Amino acid sequence: MVFSLSRKELINYTINVLRTYNIRPRKRLSQNFVIDPHLIRTILSRVRKCRPKRILEIGGGIGALTFYLSDIAEEVVTIEVDKKLIKVLENEVALRKDNVKVVYGDILKAYKKLGSFDVIVSNIPYHISSKILFILTEIKFKEALLTFQKEFADRLLAKPNEPDYGRLTVMANFYFDIEYLGTYSPSSFYPPPKVYSTLIDLRRKRIDINIPIDFFQDVVRELFTLKNRKLKSAIRNIRSVKNLDDAKFLELIHELEKYVNRRVRTLSVGELIEIASTMYRYYKEI
Ligand code: SAH
Repeated sequence: MVFSLSRKELINYTINVLRTYNIRPRKRLSQNFVIDPHLIRTILSRVRKCRPKRILEIGGGIGALTFYLSDIAEEVVTIEVDKKLIKVLENEVALRKDNVKVVYGDILKAYKKLGSFDVIVSNIPYHISSKILFILTEIKFKEALLTFQKEFADRLLAKPNEPDYGRLTVMANFYFDIEYLGTYSPSSFYPPPKVYSTLIDLRRKRIDINIPIDFFQDVVRELFTLKNRKLKSAIRNIRSVKNLDDAKFLELIHELEKYVNRRVRTLSVGELIEIASTMYRYYKEI
């Protein structure tokens, strides 16, 4: 596979490979292959800026992106769960590009063994978007370029008090700086998915918190099940402080005075960290 970056050639390559290897794209595995040169160029120019040594691609597919990524980095590891596509990646890409390492496996199981990376790239298998996001908190990397289903990306990008703002938004922004890089129509992929896609850049944040992350996570989860309530009322349902005696509870509410009349859905990540940190002091005193 050597082709210039045009839509026509990307479509030709895709259709030829599918025919030659007798592959019917599987919906269950979100197999929608990129055929949009603009999307590829945007990803590549961003990746190039990172001057990466090692890139991880999640879900290599038929390797169109893999092929170009291999020109930018010293090594590209591409993991793919479908054995038929492994054959394509090996024959069409790895045979021509000796810095491409093809790994057969499920990212959800294999991620701990892959090592660390400068950049992670993925046209995310949409059915495992949130699981992949969680995994990214456990892999060492600097920057990730990810195409999500638009609705999922909207939740990552939402601002406090917007309808999409919720637990996912808070936790994702707790771990990452998130940047919007564009929305793409179904025709950017073959076969076209039923949904629009949004390209996003993630960078790991320095985590600035002096309470256990699990505690923060629990508080956020419990608060956001009541996200339309005022903090004062939502807080009564938080397991870790619910058993406080009345005096202590009032003391806590008093300490959180500037937040208690705010609706949970309006609280920013920074404010939630402050709230959880205050709660943690009381929690430890139980
Ligand atoms: N990167 C390619 C393919 C995108 S389609 C491109 O842009 O054209 C998503 C790919 O992820 C499919 O090839 C699918 O088989 C693969 N995939 C789905 N679930 C996976 C998993 N759990 N682990 C690894 N790959 C997976």
